[in-house]
Amino acid sequence: MKKRLYLVTGGAGFIGSHISERLVRSGHSVRVLDDFSSGKEENLESVGGDVELFRGDIRDLEIVKRAVEGVDVVFHEAALGSVPRSVADPLTTHEVNITGTLNVLMAARDAGVRRVVYASSSSVYGETPELPKSEDIRPQPLSPYALSKLAGEHYISVFHHVYGFEAVSLRYFNIFGPRQDPESQYAAVIPKFVTALLDGNRPTIYGDGLQSRDFTYVENVVEANLLAAEAEAVAGRVFNVACGGRYTLLELLDRLKEIIGSDTEPLHEAARAGDVRDSQASIEAAERALGYRVMVDFDEGLRRTVDWYRGK
Ligand code: NAD
Repeated sequence: MKKRLYLVTGGAGFIGSHISERLVRSGHSVRVLDDFSSGKEENLESVGGDVELFRGDIRDLEIVKRAVEGVDVVFHEAALGSVPRSVADPLTTHEVNITGTLNVLMAARDAGVRRVVYASSSSVYGETPELPKSEDIRPQPLSPYALSKLAGEHYISVFHHVYGFEAVSLRYFNIFGPRQDPESQYAAVIPKFVTALLDGNRPTIYGDGLQSRDFTYVENVVEANLLAAEAEAVAGRVFNVACGGRYTLLELLDRLKEIIGSDTEPLHEAARAGDVRDSQASIEAAERALGYRVMVDFDEGLRRTVDWYRGK
């Protein structure tokens, strides 16, 4: 195997740290660019000494330029990743997620980076009625966050079209697993439910709990990123990354209660602005073009996640 230098933007975050860890364990050199706005040093503890850390903001083109020097592939995970946050402050989400992504693409192009793999989001589908969602559905973003992720995808395809630059977008569907932050104001549902149940607190459900998601264990996303970095004839394209299943929040809660051995009932609050009702991916395109396969299914992913939070 040829040893390579990879840059993971947002590498101190939940998903970025799993990508970084896998690359280091495979014997590669890894650089992380992160401003630690939601990322944490402890996320990189297991590979700390083996990662070259650039502490900085992707809105700062100069530091992005330094970070991409000599890099083979960039995994671009850095972003403000929350719908409610983007509703409260659309301008900052725009600057980090759109201008920041443009900075990464320009710097990567100019430095001769071979490929950028970009973390997009299932939120770009919005309330499109079709299920499962395939990549040829016309996106309908319903929040500034979703719009920002879609704009990044468009920059990727434009950079391919105009400059011949190789970049690929992966639309992640509700990723979960160890290290996902349960505490932030904008935390995702699985870490919130798991920690609430483990602490004997009542988890909060916004709306009736019948909204559904294609919950995807993080190892599947790491795999998809590595495949997207190497696959042929995929530049400029978009792929769903998910498990291809769909579970309601009430089903999720039942499974977690069973794994944890809890009988705590949820609290119901009003539905949140900008949230979509149902989400499920078609993963056929990723299977065909990337060779993607689901490595860890929903139930196994939940068990591993609960184990991790228990051990914290
Ligand atoms: P995360 O918040 O744990 O990670 C994001 C990382 O980016 C953090 O380490 C943060 O400090 C860093 N960051 C934020 N703004 C930055 C800036 N201006 N400059 C440099 N670094 C910055 O979130 P995550 O769940 O790991 O998400 C990673 C990526 O995946 C994001 O692009 C997100 O939009 C996308 N995504 C995540 C999910 C999910 O379910 N977790 C779903 C769809 C898409």
